[in-house]
Amino acid sequence: MYSQNPVFIPGPTNMPEILRKAADMPTLDHRSPLFGQILRPALSGVKKILKTEDAEIFLFPSTGTGGWETALTNTLNAGDGVLAARYGMFSHRWIDMCRRHGLNVQVVEAPWGSGLPADRYEEFLTADKEHRIKAVLATHNETATGVRSDIAAVRKALDAARHPAMLMVDGVSSIASMDFRMDEWGVDIAVTGSQKGFMLPAGLAIVAFSAKAMEATAAAGLPRTFFDVRDMARNYVNGGYPYTPAVGLLNGLKLSTELLLAEGLDNVFARHRRIASGIRAAVKAWGLELCAQSEDLYSDTVSAIRTPDGFNASDIVSHAARKYDIAFGVGLGDVAGKVFRIGHLGSLTDVMALSGIAAAEMAMADLGLGIKLGSGVAAAQEYYRGADAAQIRAAA
Ligand SMILES: *Cc1c(COP(=O)(O)O)cnc(C)c1O
Repeated sequence: MYSQNPVFIPGPTNMPEILRKAADMPTLDHRSPLFGQILRPALSGVKKILKTEDAEIFLFPSTGTGGWETALTNTLNAGDGVLAARYGMFSHRWIDMCRRHGLNVQVVEAPWGSGLPADRYEEFLTADKEHRIKAVLATHNETATGVRSDIAAVRKALDAARHPAMLMVDGVSSIASMDFRMDEWGVDIAVTGSQKGFMLPAGLAIVAFSAKAMEATAAAGLPRTFFDVRDMARNYVNGGYPYTPAVGLLNGLKLSTELLLAEGLDNVFARHRRIASGIRAAVKAWGLELCAQSEDLYSDTVSAIRTPDGFNASDIVSHAARKYDIAFGVGLGDVAGKVFRIGHLGSLTDVMALSGIAAAEMAMADLGLGIKLGSGVAAAQEYYRGADAAQIRAAA
C-alpha cells in the first residue's frame, strides 16, 4: 500500500527523498574505517542539535522506548526513587517502565492538557532531605496532548531545592523540531528517536548522557547488556560498535543533521512554529479547542484537537483514512475518543499543512460536525500569507 499523501501523524513523519536514499545503501563492513566516517559526523551532528558541548551521544538500533530504558538501566538501582509526572500517554508509559524495573516512582498526577507541574516537583524535592530521589523525569513534548513543558523550570526546581537528582528528559517529539538546550537546562539524559524530528524511518534510539550521568553508570545495578552505554563508549573511541549497527539509518542520521544544521536550527524551529500556528488558526476557525490548556503550552509539533461531547473523535481519523487516504492521529489513553491529533513535525511545508487542514475539514463535514468547508483553510492561508503578504502589498 502506498499513498501519495503526506502523513499527519506525530511520528513516524514524512521522509524527504534525499533521506530515504541516504538510509538505503549497499552493505558496508562496519569494522572498516568507512563506518567511522558515518558514525562520527552523526554523533557530532546530534550534539549540535541538542546544544551540548560535553554530553556523550549513543545511537542504539532501537526506538525512543529503548532510549527510556537506556536512561534508567545505566544510571539507577532497583528501589531508587524517581520523581515523575503523568500528564499524557507518553509520560505514563515511562512511569510504567520505571515500575517494571523495580524503581520507586513518586507520581505527580496532572490533568491531561496541562504541562509538567514544576512547582509540585520543587515541593517533593525540597521534602526529600535524604536524597532518595535519584532521577527526575520530564516529558518535554507530550505527544498525546500536544503540550510542551518548560524544562528550564524543572532545572530551576532542582536547583531551588539544592537537589542532586539527575534530570532525564524525553525529547522524542521535540528534539530537532523545537528548541532543546541540553547544557543550558542542565539536562543529564536526553532521549529521542530517528522517526520524528529527524525525518528517518524508525530504528534508532538517540540518547545523550551528561558527565554526571556517565559517572552514575559505574554504580548503577539495574541489568543491561544491549543498552549498556559503557560498551558503546568503549567501541566509539575506535569508530566501532559493540554489535552490528544499523548502518543505513546512521548514514541517514548523518545527512539529517547536516540538512537541519544547513537550514539553521532557528529556521527549523521558526518553520515548525509557523506551520503549527496556521493549524491552530484553522482549529479556531472551526470553533474547536485544543487539548492544551493555555497558549504557553502549545506544541509546535502536534496539535490534539477536542471534539464536542458525545462525538467520537477517532471516527474522524478512521473516516479520513478510508475516504481520503490520509493519516491523522487518534486520541490515546484518557483522551481516547475525545481528541484527534494533527502531527506537524519534520519534513513539512505550509502548502502540505493546507492539504491536511482541507482533508480534516472534509472528514469532519462528512461526519456532520457542522464545519464550514474552507473555513480552517482560509484562516491558515491568511496566517501563511502573513507578514510577507503585507510587505508585498506595501512595496507594490
Ligand atoms: C513517539 C514517542 C515515544 C516513543 O517512541 P518510540 O520510538 O515509539 O519507541 C516516546 N515519547 C514521546 C514523547 C513520543 O512522542
